[in-house]
Amino acid sequence: MTDTIKFFLDGAEVEAHPGETIWQVANRNGTEIPHLCYSPKPGYRPDGNCRACMVEIEGERVLAASCIRKPAPGMKVNSASERAESSRRLVFELLAADQPDRIVAHDPDSRFWNWAERVEVTDSRFPALARPSKVADFSHPAMAVQLDACIHCTLCVRACREVQVNDVIGMAARGHLEKIVFDFDDPMGGSTCVACGECVQACPTGALMPATQVDEAGIFANAPDRKVDSVCPYCGVGCQLTYEIKDDRIVAVEGRDGPSNRNRLCVKGRFGFDYVHHADRLTVPLVRREGVSKHDVDIDPLNPWTHFREASWEEALDRAAGGLKRIRDERGGGALAGFGSAKGSNEEAYLFQKLVRTGFGTNNVDHCTRLCHASSVAALMEGVGSAAVSAPFMAAEDADVIVVIGANPTENHPVAATFFKNAVKRGARLVVMDPRGTVLMRHATDMLQFKPGRDVAMLNAMLHTIIEEELYDRQYVQAHTEEFEALVANVRDYPPEKMAEICGIPAEKLREVARLYARAEAAIIFWGMGVSQHIHGTDNARCLIALSLVTGQVGRPGTGLHPLRGQNNVQGASDAGLIPMFFPDYKPVDSPEVRAFYEDLWGAPLDPKRGLTVVEIMDAVHEGDIRGMYIMGENPAMSDPDVSHAREALAMLEHLVVQDIFLTETAKYADVVLPASAWPEKDGTVTNTNRQVQMGRRALPLPGKARQDLDLIVEIAKRLGLDWTYAHPREVFAEMTKAMPSLANITWERVARESSVTYPVASPDEPGADIVFTEGFPTPSGRARFVPAKLVAPAEEPDADYPMVLSTGRQLEHWHTGSMTRRASVLDDLEPEAVAYLSARDLERHGFRSGEKIRVATRRGSIELKARVDGAIPPGLIFIPFAYAEAAANILTNPQLDPFGKIPEFKYCAARLEHAYEPAREAAE
Ligand code: SF4
Repeated sequence: MTDTIKFFLDGAEVEAHPGETIWQVANRNGTEIPHLCYSPKPGYRPDGNCRACMVEIEGERVLAASCIRKPAPGMKVNSASERAESSRRLVFELLAADQPDRIVAHDPDSRFWNWAERVEVTDSRFPALARPSKVADFSHPAMAVQLDACIHCTLCVRACREVQVNDVIGMAARGHLEKIVFDFDDPMGGSTCVACGECVQACPTGALMPATQVDEAGIFANAPDRKVDSVCPYCGVGCQLTYEIKDDRIVAVEGRDGPSNRNRLCVKGRFGFDYVHHADRLTVPLVRREGVSKHDVDIDPLNPWTHFREASWEEALDRAAGGLKRIRDERGGGALAGFGSAKGSNEEAYLFQKLVRTGFGTNNVDHCTRLCHASSVAALMEGVGSAAVSAPFMAAEDADVIVVIGANPTENHPVAATFFKNAVKRGARLVVMDPRGTVLMRHATDMLQFKPGRDVAMLNAMLHTIIEEELYDRQYVQAHTEEFEALVANVRDYPPEKMAEICGIPAEKLREVARLYARAEAAIIFWGMGVSQHIHGTDNARCLIALSLVTGQVGRPGTGLHPLRGQNNVQGASDAGLIPMFFPDYKPVDSPEVRAFYEDLWGAPLDPKRGLTVVEIMDAVHEGDIRGMYIMGENPAMSDPDVSHAREALAMLEHLVVQDIFLTETAKYADVVLPASAWPEKDGTVTNTNRQVQMGRRALPLPGKARQDLDLIVEIAKRLGLDWTYAHPREVFAEMTKAMPSLANITWERVARESSVTYPVASPDEPGADIVFTEGFPTPSGRARFVPAKLVAPAEEPDADYPMVLSTGRQLEHWHTGSMTRRASVLDDLEPEAVAYLSARDLERHGFRSGEKIRVATRRGSIELKARVDGAIPPGLIFIPFAYAEAAANILTNPQLDPFGKIPEFKYCAARLEHAYEPAREAAE
């Protein structure tokens, strides 16, 4: 069916779009028809099994389920006939017979009970089904399962298998014994459930509920008294959500139909919010007590008073700004530095960098982008003239071939991963390239598990194949690129037959994947920090850019280049200028014309020199060149490489101001601690990995005397002599639109109204451009540039003393340095302790058991944590998440930097396994 058709609904002629069902047409025309097993949300296939949506069709002997039945031209449908209504009532009456009464229902406000009420069914004439006695399962910390309310509608099965594609929930048994099961009829808490909560959101009866909304007896509790729409504060996917709030506490979270999540969430976005209410929240300003050394930071977070004392806001702000001003006036702005935050809003990031540049007088301002995608930004800027993605991850829906390299999206960008899995179900080829096997490998059509640190060899071999076999897009290369000959000359040296041994992938496989990518109608590349966090991270990204340019796989639907951004606002914070070499919108600080523009806009002279980056700033503290810092929402005492070096630097500072919501590992070194606002406590915009500017809304009051981050930046600025008067983030956003051409046609009011606006956008009433580079590139020549990459070995190779390779990263449940997620009760319940992932062979070789405490050592230090066997880890590799303060992985990592992006090599250093310290063993030895 390609055209609209006309039919009659309750006597009125209506039009059906191609593919629409009767229910959808009725709904669009304002006719409500009950529905239980049907969800109108995107991604849900109608199943037509519950018969709650029956309608009468003239001339047919039987009623039809409107959720699945498509109209035919001229059909006469009656949704309100006595026959249709009594049929639907009967369905509800039969189902109600087996439900707990509404008064004791697990969710008395469920879709089932609301519709039952509307069709005037409150009880049932029919006898209840005799149920097996054990129907409740409270084994999962996030979700309560009470199958006495289950109506077998299979929405949860479709949610799990078809929407989020986790394949945990199924139906088992037959007849009246039929039931929902998790894996092999395991308790939910013991199953492979990843706690995305999609099933809870889909369940129409309350058989599956957030654990926060039932009491110990399984009875409904904590009905929200209000709801606030916002955005998830965790990863760069930027899922839109609604907080459900009771008595100023978040009791549940529901996914909204945002452009990057279509109602979906992951475990963090759905169940990871009670950190906001944690007892560790900073609620009063603190100043370091006289004479307490910064070298002794062993503070109980619940009782920091031994090192700090409470201060008034006036005293804390005067001290905070006073120390920074003294250093600036005595030594110049270059003796100061600031770390802003990718966890805050765009407005905070913009004001923070403006404060450092105009108030401190230096470009020494950076943030965590330096530790995640700085090399990708460097390569994209030199290659295509823009640091953002060329297409959203939703473009996977239109791709024939999807390449995911150096990324673990099922853990780090879980909702984005659901769309990749959906694409595979549709028939797309998924090529996963990673030294470490990931969950996505299960869905991959091709898996290239290459040797760690040998990405360039593998990618150059693919480029060699494409050029040698003339698979490249000659027309595209001629029309849109430059320096192709340099690429051709470079990859001549890297045939697959020669690279196979280096990267560990057979030559024929390298050729096969190169052909697959080049010949695809539409192919897209996603990459993560496995690509960027190397000393050759920029080279890795250069190769990926070259692959897409040489094949013309960019600028069309289903094609593109997409570095998956890690934190919720790392794209926005980078765009806003929280980078030492760029003003907002990546305008170089060393360009006199650019500088003149910002000096004019900001009314202050600006430093013409590029500032120092995150790791360089810590080195400069050791050199005595930087004496004071202002750190907002960052935690370098956990996130920097060789963190002992970073911690020493923090202790050496003459003056350190930390603005945060917890007494983080970094805040413990502070002279002044400013208690600030968590994400659900503030208004502000954020920009996700798809270039979508979205609105976060204040949902909760601030705890104690904590203040808005934005206010605190303004207060510090005023005390440094700036005449700032910003009273609301909308005023800051208005200024940002003058400083950032990328925000043209986007206003605060528009983002508030539309919830999400993609940049760039051509006019105030047009949608933004999801796909860019359709007709060229934002470079001086309008062409993209090939930048060849040579093979560069990792900075520290394994040897006899340290024979293994250590790689670090994230887990699904924990985010960044864990300051929030480890204080989120469900997330910490699910992953409560530090672990090192190892192959079974390495465990056996060292005589360890899975679960045993071991020690991992590198040239920079050692940590003790539990061993966890992981079948996807190749022998010789150790993987450690960096969220655990008690076993901080970054004590081990190598601070060597990529020369272009200045990003450290978190993904590769030499390491060894040892027995954990045991006094008895040490004494015997
Ligand atoms: Fe939040 Fe990312 Fe999970 Fe979405 S995928 S809910 S943005 S952590």
